[in-house]
Amino acid sequence: MMMWSEPRRFEVDVDAGLMHGSGTRYQKRLQDLNGLYADGAAFDARLASGGQEVVYDVTDFRPSSSAGDLITGVTRMSPGKIGDEFYLTRGHVHAILDRPELYYGLKGKGLMLMESPDGETRIIEVLPNTACYVAPHWIHRSVNVGDEDFVMLFCYPADSGQDYGIIERSQGMKLRIVDDGAGGWRSVENPAYTGRSEADVLALLERGKQVAA
Ligand code: ZN
Repeated sequence: MMMWSEPRRFEVDVDAGLMHGSGTRYQKRLQDLNGLYADGAAFDARLASGGQEVVYDVTDFRPSSSAGDLITGVTRMSPGKIGDEFYLTRGHVHAILDRPELYYGLKGKGLMLMESPDGETRIIEVLPNTACYVAPHWIHRSVNVGDEDFVMLFCYPADSGQDYGIIERSQGMKLRIVDDGAGGWRSVENPAYTGRSEADVLALLERGKQVAA
């Protein structure tokens, strides 16, 4: 008798930014995000007054780690800024580089900030009922540019894995998202950004294949 994987139903609480009936939940507090923001002094000042603040949380369901399976989840980000820079997630590229991801906006206003291994950048604004397709190979991070919680549903291949170090190794992403002083956002170049050499890019692609094997 074949053991079929079980279909599931999840209730999404858009206001709370949670998915019920899921297996995993993790939270990132401000104190966990040291080094992500351009304004280190503003970050330290904020830590002194409330490092326990939850900046984002994720609930997800991971049925298996098979290539053909899907991880489904909901992410919620608080509104806020460090200096003039909007709250962001740590960001990653998938360990198997060619795995894509789909996000769907449920609440609030945010951005998907993306960067290719060789330093091209894309920004997609995500509003309720916007789908955002993160194509294979793109480093991705979300940013809350609104004044309320930013909530999205996401799914991606279950064997993707995450490389969180990639952004750290290039001293951040190429672009930062800051307040434009007129109620909106704008992107600015990150002067510390070092990028990746052609050899780095080839090594990343090669690693992706090895992880997949
Ligand atoms: Zn991802």
